[in-house]
Amino acid sequence: MEITLLGTACAVGGMDRDNTYFLIQNREDCTMVDVGGSPLSKLAKLGISVHQVKEIIFTHFHIDHVYGLPSLLWGMWLAGRTKPLIIYCSSENEVQLKKWLEVIDIHQWPVLFEVQIHKYAWRTESLLIKEEELMITTFPSLQLGPTVGLKIQYKDKVLVYSADTEPNSWIKEQKQIDIMIHEATTAERPRVNHTSLQEIINYYPLERIDQVVAVHLTDTEPYDRVLDSQVIAIKDKIIIGFDFMKINL
Ligand SMILES: [Zn+2]
Repeated sequence: MEITLLGTACAVGGMDRDNTYFLIQNREDCTMVDVGGSPLSKLAKLGISVHQVKEIIFTHFHIDHVYGLPSLLWGMWLAGRTKPLIIYCSSENEVQLKKWLEVIDIHQWPVLFEVQIHKYAWRTESLLIKEEELMITTFPSLQLGPTVGLKIQYKDKVLVYSADTEPNSWIKEQKQIDIMIHEATTAERPRVNHTSLQEIINYYPLERIDQVVAVHLTDTEPYDRVLDSQVIAIKDKIIIGFDFMKINL
């Protein structure tokens, strides 16, 4: 299974970074986690058809994580899609999602595929996807409003995606994590509802986490300074994510 980071910027965007979202590729089908800017050109650059995007998982409904949805739906319509699209969102965001689909008038285009909204309870762990070798579950993040992180299990490997959050005890308590994709909106200073790279290093048991990929990044933050001040064993575990970075699980 392969994950491609489609964007790695925080809410204000970046000069060379799209807002944070990514693609999970498992065989022919893909799952998009959040939808930042320019999803159509990102898919085109990867050589992936919009027909291959089977489902979308929204971790939360802040604009930087959802604003690409109309463009993605538009591209699916233009491509003549007929197979259903599944959208996962928290129960609290279902009404907002439906209103938004109404505002962009997808029934008037008319979209020829069914948009199936699967809602999940965000305050508890929720099972979203269970296939042969892949399982995706949610866990609550510590953000303003309903937000979830994702635990992605593939064969015997575990990847955890924090989504937007303050340092999260749920992640800290995991026995073993192969890859942790974690937001690092700032490098050194703590910021409410978010996490700094320094906090990732100080808070989480990195001896139980094989690799850390930092996303949701801010252009002007001194991430390299934080990494350079670490011992090699810590520094070697942490990658500052970049758009189109591939992660194999
Ligand atoms: Zn965000």
